[in-house]
Amino acid sequence: MADPTKTLCPYCGVGCGLEVLPPAIPGKAVNRDKDGTPLWNVRGDRTHPSSQGMVCVKGATIAESLHKDRLRFPMMRDALDQPFRRVTWEEALTKIVDRIRLVKFTQGVDAIGMYASGQFQTEDYYIAQKLMKGCLGTNNFDANSRLCMSSAVAGYLQSFGADGPPCCYEDLEQTDCAFLIGTNTAECHPIVFNRFRRYHKKNSDVKLIVVDPRCTETAAAADLHLAINPGTDIDLMYGIAHLLLRWGDLDKAFIESHTNGFEEFKEVIRHYPPDVVAIRCGIAETELLTAAHYWSSAKRVLSMWSMGVNQSSEGTAKVRAIINVHLMTGQIGKPGAGPFSLTGQPNAMGGREAGGLSHLLPGYRSVTNPGHRAELETFWQLPTGSISSNPGLTAWEMITGLETGNLGMLWVAATNPAVSMPDIERTKAALRQSPFTVYQECYYPTEMADYAHVLLPTTQWSEKTGVMTNSERRVTLCPQFRVAPGEARSDWEIFAEVGRRLGYRKQFAFNYAAEVYAEFVRLTRDRPCDQSGLSHTYLREMGATQWPFSSKAEPTQQKVEKAKRLYTDLKFHTPDGKARFSQVYSRGLAEPPDDNYPFVLTTGRLYGHWHTQSRTGRIEKIRQMYPNPFIEIHPRDAEKLGIQSDDWVEVRSRRGTARFPAKVTKAITPKTVFVPMHWGALWAENAEANALTHEIACPDSKQPELKACAVQLIPV
Ligand code: SF4
Repeated sequence: MADPTKTLCPYCGVGCGLEVLPPAIPGKAVNRDKDGTPLWNVRGDRTHPSSQGMVCVKGATIAESLHKDRLRFPMMRDALDQPFRRVTWEEALTKIVDRIRLVKFTQGVDAIGMYASGQFQTEDYYIAQKLMKGCLGTNNFDANSRLCMSSAVAGYLQSFGADGPPCCYEDLEQTDCAFLIGTNTAECHPIVFNRFRRYHKKNSDVKLIVVDPRCTETAAAADLHLAINPGTDIDLMYGIAHLLLRWGDLDKAFIESHTNGFEEFKEVIRHYPPDVVAIRCGIAETELLTAAHYWSSAKRVLSMWSMGVNQSSEGTAKVRAIINVHLMTGQIGKPGAGPFSLTGQPNAMGGREAGGLSHLLPGYRSVTNPGHRAELETFWQLPTGSISSNPGLTAWEMITGLETGNLGMLWVAATNPAVSMPDIERTKAALRQSPFTVYQECYYPTEMADYAHVLLPTTQWSEKTGVMTNSERRVTLCPQFRVAPGEARSDWEIFAEVGRRLGYRKQFAFNYAAEVYAEFVRLTRDRPCDQSGLSHTYLREMGATQWPFSSKAEPTQQKVEKAKRLYTDLKFHTPDGKARFSQVYSRGLAEPPDDNYPFVLTTGRLYGHWHTQSRTGRIEKIRQMYPNPFIEIHPRDAEKLGIQSDDWVEVRSRRGTARFPAKVTKAITPKTVFVPMHWGALWAENAEANALTHEIACPDSKQPELKACAVQLIPV
């Protein structure tokens, strides 16, 4: 039997290793889907250090999604009310290049925006940065990671002087206390949770604290579940900090030698005594005391969070509040400890490394730093001043740019903003106003395709070669092992071709993804995300590898280190090498409940589905697991409203309405309701969670508060 292809699951930031074999294996019946199409065999890769052979239902069923509803040929139309017509690549690319030139001439280059995806491989991200930020000279490149983890990026940067989660998955099996806040890890990062759960079950003295307004599967496994009111995360963290300070459970030597700003932070947490915090958070004071006690008695505390913290109008402050507690207790830079942000998308980390947000440049550089811009201009052989010093438009700012007419061309790739953006009716209205939208995607139909003038078919995972970095900074090569359907091309090749047609031939003289990655890693040398020692060849031969991985060190030496952590030398990336305490007071929700809209709606993901269902909606087993969307309501609220399970409920916010069947359950906190975010207009009628959400964002990270808005419930 042929050796399996080793690759990475392309769904989530856990980054599980997969092994893939062709549909026909000698001695084994061919696996087929319902319509008889032979399916590739997919299983967990036991040699992948991150996942050790485990996979969840998404990874296990991925083969079924690869051939269905594929966009095969470029298509175009002049107006959104016209049908698409098939065109050649030549026609489509000519149209795009002409339009770029026209918009640049009539409105200026900052009237062009690109909105892309953490589904990109690093090579796609890198070439897009070179095209947009380098050659075109606009920083208007943003990714759906803006909606996912940009608060973690801002929090790490402000506290440590650089982005990058300092922890690794081995910490899951070396901690004394796991503190999970704003993450339903069991459903959304299932293999991370499986690793911890195995260890937790074997070690009864290890504590698991889960902070979540819902009693999720994650919370059900906790030693302590804190069902706080939505928006009170900072209060909780400062309440814990207040108690640790009162008890003297501090690491004074660490604070003294390795941090700045503790005295000012002490003044802030003075205002968060346990009785006040317990009332604000809606928990018992004893629960707060227990959480602080678990934290203080653990030698190693590992906190983890994801969208429940990041998707907030004070997301960066929340991240820094978590980090503050780690700093005051010295819980960082050692096994089993540290503040660990779990990324959502499979390559959101690679996107950060390649500069894939509108304020970043490749290699953890910033567009506002003149030295960084100069380094890139020299490296890319572009004239001085080519890169703009202005941060580009963020995801939501591109929507408002369409509203005002300031954006004359939108280029969307591998993401579905017609479902995933906040305030979705406003988003759709803005998309309808776009003078010219290019959409490159591997599936058709999707909700976003309704708003495109040009559709470009792309290859997806399995049909192209590139790398992805998972949450623990581990880079895995994903080789091509299938033939792409129709005329699909990889995202980086499309960007490079447009670049060449715009006159940048030497900047885009690449034939293979390996060459693109080789150029990119040179830009990471001596940067915090140094992966200059990596290459496609190295990753193919040696397997998935964590950064930092410098070309200066002997590769064999580096490989010996089994699990890499950042800051083990307690030197941070700030000018004086010290980490910084934040001193921000909690503000709460941007849109708190009131008499007219008395409930807080929180949104989230389910175990089997991925984001807007472009893949998982096409997999029979997963569709059967979740046939319909729903709304969770606490029995006390349901009784007052006369609602029973399966009754239809109309949910209204200040922006829109949606209807869901009720699921009456004590799993949700009273006065809070929960709706999954996976259903767009393609999959269910009038059941879009984002019809209700608002766009108010964290001022630092510009990440919208998708997790909470005020709603009213009307029994139908
Ligand atoms: Fe894929 Fe994430 Fe599931 Fe792992 S946990 S198999 S990366 S979806």
